[in-house]
Amino acid sequence: MTDDREFYTFRGYLMMQDRQQMTPSMEDYLEMIYRSHLQEGYARTSQLAAQLNVQASSVTKTVQKLARLGLLNYEKYGLIQLTEKGKRIGSFLLKRHILIENFLKLIGVKEPYLLRDTEMIEHHLSLNAFHKIKLLYKFLQANPAVMEQFNRYKLERNKLRRGD
Ligand code: ZN
Repeated sequence: MTDDREFYTFRGYLMMQDRQQMTPSMEDYLEMIYRSHLQEGYARTSQLAAQLNVQASSVTKTVQKLARLGLLNYEKYGLIQLTEKGKRIGSFLLKRHILIENFLKLIGVKEPYLLRDTEMIEHHLSLNAFHKIKLLYKFLQANPAVMEQFNRYKLERNKLRRGD
């Protein structure tokens, strides 16, 4: 996907009316369902409960909410299949997650903070900030000399602060 098309997909998502009804937790579910969709073509409620470490009953509730937004079809025996709209938005959510995680990694954030911070940031970013972080990430990747300079700067600062 070209950057421009990606940008419009993201904007489409961020501007869609339904988004107001998408809580961070619903975004997490959809992201996880999309990951399963990529691997197996579908997801299952039982598997989701295990992956997200929640009760099967709350999985059912959230999956029903996502179904009402037209993002997935929820069939008998816990089989979940994404609609085209669900796939588009799921793909955006996954890309957003990966970008934030890669960006944080690039500037030196490590586990146990990396995943936790990604999860906190991803759901609350505006499209504007998202796009700028993406540009900065690409810029830093394309300019290793700048990255080296940054890493040296970090080292010097850390020596002074004797920490981090
Ligand atoms: Zn995520």
